[in-house]
Amino acid sequence: EKTVVLITGCSSGIGLGLAVRLASDASCRFKVYATMRNLAKKERLLECVRGCHASTLEILQLDVTDPLSLAAAAQQVQEQRVDVLVCNAGVGLMGPLETCSYQAMKTIFDVNVFGTIGTIQAFLPGMKRRKAGKIIISSSVGALQGIPFNAVYCASKFAVEGLCESLAVILQQFNVHITLIECGPVNTSFLANLQRMDTEGCVLQGLDPQTCALYSQYLQHSQSLFRDVAQDTEEVLQVFLEAICTPCPPLRSFTTQFFMPLTRLKLTSPDGSEYVRAMHKFVFSAGEAQGDRV
Ligand code: NAD
Repeated sequence: EKTVVLITGCSSGIGLGLAVRLASDASCRFKVYATMRNLAKKERLLECVRGCHASTLEILQLDVTDPLSLAAAAQQVQEQRVDVLVCNAGVGLMGPLETCSYQAMKTIFDVNVFGTIGTIQAFLPGMKRRKAGKIIISSSVGALQGIPFNAVYCASKFAVEGLCESLAVILQQFNVHITLIECGPVNTSFLANLQRMDTEGCVLQGLDPQTCALYSQYLQHSQSLFRDVAQDTEEVLQVFLEAICTPCPPLRSFTTQFFMPLTRLKLTSPDGSEYVRAMHKFVFSAGEAQGDRV
């Protein structure tokens, strides 16, 4: 019997890559429900899986912010069970907090937080009943530590960490495993897809010059970070595959060790002062040797 996997956000990036990888598994071990908000974007996925076994992939419409769309997608799973649920849909928001509109912040929380909660709620009862299942979340280094000018994105991703850590405590009794995959920067269209305020926009909105200057410095840092340390989707997918194929995957799995020195500061200096100092240095002291940047 095939492992039934349902993935959200499959029109691009990690979701698309994972759907292709699982659907083209040489031993046809998986039946993949690749879901996306907008089915008009399914061509890329179809192109990538061309030639692979027809019975391993189905594409469904699913907007994680729409309960009716979620219910309809769940109904269309022929096997009437999902063994592995991958909550991957997510959006970013970058800019000084003062420039983030209520609408933009609400969208981030609707997709990243309520969308993830709703998706889990749709499939959790079945997993509990069967006493089997895996929930895998596309999480982020920004879910574990604050990143300047990503405050709202980090707030939404932190929320999902709290959600999953809380669930994990009881789900082990149901043989349901929940795993957060902590990704650093990944070469996907995430940067292109995120809502980003530009420096000129900040100036136009009358933001103070000091914040504008810091933001402009941050944008440069972010660009070079993506250039220097972003992982390829394939590398990150390996960690997803491990979580899918291991019987009892851990609550957190890291795709990269690069941010570990920064992440650890929360534990070694619980009052946060070390982290704030180190992150400030990491982002705003350009030109230092890469080795001392973290
Ligand atoms: P991406 O932008 O290519 O993929 C995100 C996908 O989510 C898109 O296909 C988008 O259409 C979909 N989506 C957005 N709103 C949706 C909705 N309402 N319903 C259903 N789908 C929706 O970027 P990605 O890098 O593949 O991102 C996937 C996940 O990985 C996200 O949750 C993101 O936060 C996380 N992540 C990405 C990075 C990175 O650097 N790329 C780093 C850490 C974490």
